[in-house]
Amino acid sequence: MRPEIYQYNYDWMLWRAIQAAGKLADGSEKETRKMMSYIPYFRKTAEVFINMGKPGISYLKRIEQYLDNIVTAHEKGKKIVMTTFCFSPSIFYAMDIVPVTLEVMTVLGSALWKRGTTDYMDYCVELGFTETSCSSQRGCLGAYLAGLGEEIDLIVTNTAGVCDTNANAFAFAQKYLDKPFYSLNYPSGLTDNPANQYHRDDFRELIRFLESHTGTTLDPDRLRAVLDETARQEAIVAEIEELQRLVPNPLPVTYNFVIYGGRFFFAGMPEYTELLTDMAEVVRDNAQNGRSGITSGIEKKRAFFFYIDHYTLNLSLWDWLDRHGISHIGSILSRSFKDDQPYMKGMEDAAYSIDTTDLDTMIDSIAMINSRMPMVRSIRGPYDRPNMWKEESLALARIYKADCLIYNGTPGCRNTWSNVKLLAGDLEKAGYPTHIMYGDAFDERVESWESTAARLEEFFTIRGLL
Ligand code: SF4
Repeated sequence: MRPEIYQYNYDWMLWRAIQAAGKLADGSEKETRKMMSYIPYFRKTAEVFINMGKPGISYLKRIEQYLDNIVTAHEKGKKIVMTTFCFSPSIFYAMDIVPVTLEVMTVLGSALWKRGTTDYMDYCVELGFTETSCSSQRGCLGAYLAGLGEEIDLIVTNTAGVCDTNANAFAFAQKYLDKPFYSLNYPSGLTDNPANQYHRDDFRELIRFLESHTGTTLDPDRLRAVLDETARQEAIVAEIEELQRLVPNPLPVTYNFVIYGGRFFFAGMPEYTELLTDMAEVVRDNAQNGRSGITSGIEKKRAFFFYIDHYTLNLSLWDWLDRHGISHIGSILSRSFKDDQPYMKGMEDAAYSIDTTDLDTMIDSIAMINSRMPMVRSIRGPYDRPNMWKEESLALARIYKADCLIYNGTPGCRNTWSNVKLLAGDLEKAGYPTHIMYGDAFDERVESWESTAARLEEFFTIRGLL
């Protein structure tokens, strides 16, 4: 790794940058605009959030809070857990443990800096971790393996379906950092009784692990508060997503990104509820006035990203969609699969519910939430089996009136690259023009954003969409 990269901790740098960005918007509009000329390097990323108004600024402040929790955790006597995006952080919040979620931390570095997190990705490889693994973990992981972050106390994961590279990233971290480790597991089915029982037992064992390594006993009242808050949050998300069915879609293009990002950072915490409340106000107002969330006010097409989005410098994907009048109507990451979400009609089996009657029902609920996290839910078995990737993508594309479907992932994702062409063929047969992006969501060295954008232009033009 380049020597200059060793000068500052990764989490500390992110914290200071996001803190400064959050303060930008504390001045008047004129002051904020004037400040932009002094931050040419960060300007585009800052503008993505500031142009979103109150929800965007509120989002920046929430991310700052998340990072502040990490860098001050040990001073406050709290333990830090390294974990993954497909693990709901609510159990950690209920036990006062601070999560470091590798993938969301990689997104932050990839979007903020031109160099992205590539130095850290390569550092993992220097240590012997495979180069063909998913870049979403490697970006942040490399920093922590290099000692460029707060010390990790324990590692808890929940592999993204059949994702070997996610599982290996955390197993590698465990060996290298020599920390206590727990991995939730998954059977190949999602809705049968043995699978449900397996998730319950596994989650109870996880709680015993957390209690023994943190010296904290799970407080049922605190868990209840977190789950009640989760239910409130998902009710707001349900309203926002229901309004997303309107044509034109009243959601600004970035809103789905903020919905799932907020959930990964702060599920079950009031910070996320406040953010969603601000977003719902904007969406309701747009819907009542028949207004599109696109800046120009004209929705030309609606794209469903049936895997993940693209997070490299300046969050250029969303800017590109907005400039072309294309509504982003969600991705595999955005939907939670709670039982009262309107899109669950016809997929009731795959839903989770929240029951806070007693400790057993709460543990069951949280185990079910985790088993419905993105990819854990729908990449756990063959793509064309019931409740899996194909069925889910087609159902969501239909409900949200997609004009086209787009795949973006990472080259390390064998779980999707092994079958995405078959799936794309099936989606085309179902009538959806389908585009496969060849870039890496977190690493622009694989394909530059300019090339990715050129291929998107080509797809939309050749398929007669624009
Ligand atoms: S994108 Fe693919 S490789 Fe990366 S965590 Fe998800 S399933 Fe695993």
